Amino acid sequence: MKTVELLRGLQAVDSALDAAHVRLQQIASELADRSEFAAATRARRARADELRAIEAEQRDLELEMESLRQHLETTNQKLYGGRVGDAKELTNLTREAQQVRGQIAARDEQQFVLLERVEQAQTADADAERHLVEVRNRRRAEEAALKAEREGLQESIATAEAEQANLRAQVDAAALRTYDNLRRTKGGLAVVDLRQRTCQACRVSLPIHFEQRARQGDVLVLCQSCGRILSPTG
Ligand SMILES: [Zn+2]
Repeated sequence: MKTVELLRGLQAVDSALDAAHVRLQQIASELADRSEFAAATRARRARADELRAIEAEQRDLELEMESLRQHLETTNQKLYGGRVGDAKELTNLTREAQQVRGQIAARDEQQFVLLERVEQAQTADADAERHLVEVRNRRRAEEAALKAEREGLQESIATAEAEQANLRAQVDAAALRTYDNLRRTKGGLAVVDLRQRTCQACRVSLPIHFEQRARQGDVLVLCQSCGRILSPTG
């Protein structure tokens, strides 16, 4: 096989290897990026904390009301128990009972507001939990798919590397050096199609003898504009 044809094959294998390595890196960073799951976990914890805080408020209020009810009961017993005869004291007791009833009524309203807040917090908590489960399941599926893809890529890479070695062994050292230098300096693309006398990399039109020499395949013909190895097609 002519050197340019071998290099053309090598270019195809190397381009495929480049793409496979880029994809492997993407897969590695996608596998490492657990930010969505972490965010969902944090959100879930925050909602649960909020719910617990409101429930604690509710319990405190319940205890407070319980002690107010007891206070009212004691006051009422004094008021209506018949043991207090002093008019001033009775007036004070009546006022006290009234105050306590007012406090109980105010806390009743607070309790009602708290009940609504608890319901909202429960809904938010359930939503966050559902979202977390959804993210977790999706993440598991994504990870499984990414790992399967990685395995497939690693197999393709092994096959391509064997092919790469096989092709390189057939190309002389000077041509390989030219090829490797171009790969390094020209964004990985060393061999390019020459179609209708036009370099398909830089789109420059070349004199007819470039194509004739390239077709003979005795020497490597480089594009006079971008310097890449020309491989005539069509
Ligand atoms: Zn060119």
